[in-house]
Amino acid sequence: MNINIKFLGAAGEVTGSKYLLQIDDFNLLVDCGLFQGRKQLKELNWEEFPVDIASINAVILTHAHLDHTGYLPRLFRTGYRGPVYCTTATADLMQLILMDSAKLQVEEANFAKRKGYSSHSDPQPLYDENDVKLITECVQSYCFEEDVFISPVIKARFYNAGHILGAAIVELTITGETQTKKIVFSGDLGRYNDPILFPPHTIEEADILFIESTYGNRAIKQTDRQDIIDVMNETFERDGNLVVPAFSIGRTQTLLMYLKNVLMSKEIPAVKIIVDSPMAIAATAFYRQHQDYHKLRDIDLDEDESFMTLRKQLIVSRTSGDSKKINDITHDSIIIAGNGMMSGGRVLHHLLKRLPDPDNVILISGYQAEGSRGRLLQDGAKTISIFGQDIQVKAKVFTITGLSAHADKDELLKWLSGFKKVPKQTFVVHGESESAHALADTLSAKGWNATVPHYLENVELFKSI
Ligand SMILES: [Zn+2]
Repeated sequence: MNINIKFLGAAGEVTGSKYLLQIDDFNLLVDCGLFQGRKQLKELNWEEFPVDIASINAVILTHAHLDHTGYLPRLFRTGYRGPVYCTTATADLMQLILMDSAKLQVEEANFAKRKGYSSHSDPQPLYDENDVKLITECVQSYCFEEDVFISPVIKARFYNAGHILGAAIVELTITGETQTKKIVFSGDLGRYNDPILFPPHTIEEADILFIESTYGNRAIKQTDRQDIIDVMNETFERDGNLVVPAFSIGRTQTLLMYLKNVLMSKEIPAVKIIVDSPMAIAATAFYRQHQDYHKLRDIDLDEDESFMTLRKQLIVSRTSGDSKKINDITHDSIIIAGNGMMSGGRVLHHLLKRLPDPDNVILISGYQAEGSRGRLLQDGAKTISIFGQDIQVKAKVFTITGLSAHADKDELLKWLSGFKKVPKQTFVVHGESESAHALADTLSAKGWNATVPHYLENVELFKSI
């Protein structure tokens, strides 16, 4: 048996995760992510797939994030009909994320058609909701640590990665004619002290390892809890409001748990907490359905899809009508709305209303890409453009760090130290070039055989085993 790997994404980049394992003539695609961010990267989503789609036998997914699953509907649109293996929670979250992505693709294509800025006379979406529906019938979902037989010689297991609900480390055990080999994909790894998710499972051995490196070159300092409480209390003393642009899956739930704690300990007054994001509300329902995947217990989760015992203070805004009513709230509220980088979504309406008032605070809770409205606010912009209007920024901007769903450099090294024997070969993936090389260098200095692969690189892993 021969085993090769072809890097079809997230090689020297963070997005577009796709790794094609060629095990003799069986082709297994590990992750099927969308390229995001820079224009040149996004264009890769439109190029012809680098391998014949008919030759792919199966797809296995580490987790539901778009940069790991977002190309899947395109794969189906272009003819793939094989199985898609993932955890049960990933299957549910993926459905939500892909439907949202399909809607966005269709909206963008229609917008381009109306404005006439596309080079095509009839701009098409990358995929639509029908393509997403096709996937559902092909999904085979499993719990953590169950045996998944992908072929008579390929066995997979999902282990908790602690990154988002259902996120997994994928371990493949491949039985050759003379030897058995273990190939491990870390997926995206989470934190060791997450309030909701369990820490990443320790893997002790692998012949070949693929390790993510999003934060391969830096440790993340956590914002002091008291500093956040002070910012909130100062805002409420001024009769102001907080707007929290939030990522729907994971971050919103973490924020709510945090708010529950500070409300219960009476460290902040009993203010209104508003969740204005249909996607966050739907995602939260999955925490109730998939209780094995997290630390929350019944006491933290309400009967319906609303949130964790914050009922008295919580306003869940489902419709756009509900969302508009939030404008009537004059003081003492925390408005959590998507999306996290303020590139779209309901948060824009709240920013439009709240940014010009110096009593308000915009609480930024995650990484803001260069060029995003969030980054402009962090950099002290005096005005920002929303819906074609220049909006004055009078509100204060406060950034919380340490709420990330990603392990930082120290946590990556902690996870790697769980290996009892150094893997024969380690590929450092899913990181900007600088970050990936920093982690590869750190590992090389410890005697690991670690490299950063490049896009479309082909590597022979095993010959005649
Ligand atoms: Zn992720």
